[in-house]
Amino acid sequence: MPDTDLDQLRREPGRGKQLKILVVGAGLGGLSAAIALTQIGAQVDVIEIKPDNSVPGVGFGLRLNGMRAVRELGLLEQCLAFGTKPSGLTYYDNRGRHLSDLSYGPDDGDVPSILVMSRIGYLDVATARAQELGCDIRMGTTVASLEQKPENVAVTFSSGDSAEYDLVVGFDGINSQIRHEYFGARYDPTPAGGVAWRCPLPLADGLTDTTFLQGHGGKIVFSPLSSDMMYMVLTVAEEGRPRYDPAEMPRIMYDRARALMGDSEFMAESIVQVLQSTSVAYTPYSTVWVPYPWFRGRVMIGGDAAHTMPPYLGSGAAMAIEDGVVLAQELAKDHSLLDAQLMFMARRLPRARAVHERSIESMLEEFDSVTPEAFQRRLQFLRDLEPIANEYSNRLLALPY
Ligand SMILES: Cc1cc2nc3c(=O)[nH]c(=O)nc-3n(C[C@H](O)[C@H](O)[C@H](O)COP(=O)(O)OP(=O)(O)OC[C@H]3O[C@@H](n4cnc5c(N)ncnc54)[C@H](O)[C@@H]3O)c2cc1C
Repeated sequence: MPDTDLDQLRREPGRGKQLKILVVGAGLGGLSAAIALTQIGAQVDVIEIKPDNSVPGVGFGLRLNGMRAVRELGLLEQCLAFGTKPSGLTYYDNRGRHLSDLSYGPDDGDVPSILVMSRIGYLDVATARAQELGCDIRMGTTVASLEQKPENVAVTFSSGDSAEYDLVVGFDGINSQIRHEYFGARYDPTPAGGVAWRCPLPLADGLTDTTFLQGHGGKIVFSPLSSDMMYMVLTVAEEGRPRYDPAEMPRIMYDRARALMGDSEFMAESIVQVLQSTSVAYTPYSTVWVPYPWFRGRVMIGGDAAHTMPPYLGSGAAMAIEDGVVLAQELAKDHSLLDAQLMFMARRLPRARAVHERSIESMLEEFDSVTPEAFQRRLQFLRDLEPIANEYSNRLLALPY
């Protein structure tokens, strides 16, 4: 059976029968898609390779667009109850000289322009909502084999049992098995050239808002987490993807921070505490871009599986959540399965592409600050042009998806 039987998909009603859909991956995108698809009446099964909802990384932020999608999933109130809304962020140079104040833009009624949440918190409320709507979520399970037939996809699970679906959607993240097998190894992740070093630290005296420090070749972010803790994130260009000994990571992160700060003593008391940290995380950034279309017959991909971006607009999760909501909106319309897939692509591709590109550009602009001339140019940019670049990002994200 060829991967794509367009005539069959053209005849196949997207509505009028109850679609049976398998979502692969119960991450931020997969669970959101499962809720959206169940809300339009589909019968949805979700499989997740991990045994539980544990995830690396403490939190993530959703901007206005992501929060609008969360409202469509019926999760707004719950997220507002456990999330926090930062007021904005301030850029300084490595010596602590003020460069610019940036906002996340206006709220939209009850939908905040940004909400920062615990990842596990979101996964827990999304899991509960999906199950309440009737989704079957199987943890510790993956796809063993997948066969496309004209009328459905036959899936055998790692557990040995099997089932047939009208549609299989891979929300299985940056290293997507579905993408690798159905779209090809040429779309495997590409190193983005940047890395993030992260660790929690005691809250610095007087730090109340998220603070960005532009250094020589990268930046350091300090974000208050609670009344006595903050999070430090350092982003810098690093070639290759070396594997570091975890015992060495506090020292390496400290050295990177000192190199960014030069001879400045600004925030030095906090930076030196990195050496005592027992939870330094190191994340090399990679990107994925799968060009049109994100489907091969009845097998689709969404979220990071289709479009992983460095978190410079803080929007990868929002794009993944939007994907699921838009797919459900198109499947709910009175047209064929192929029409739904085509309209999904027409709506998603330009939007995800714009956010993907802007994320990469922002990262490269930040790293282009190593030489003294480039550093001064970067500071000038942050003073004069970053407020307007930030406004552009706010407007881009706030556009209807
Ligand atoms: C440091 C950092 C900070 C970030 N901050 C933000 C932010 O503030 N805001 C934002 O919007 N985005 C942020 N992002 C991006 C965001 O985390 C991702 O874009 C988002 O998680 C993508 O969601 P997803 O569901 O596509 O993939 P994931 O969340 O990665 O979920 C994929 C799921 O699929 C499962 N899986 C994998 N393979 C299989 C398989 N074969 N079978 C079954 N299950 C499988 C995985 O275990 C996982 O649970 C950040 C990313 C990084 C690296």
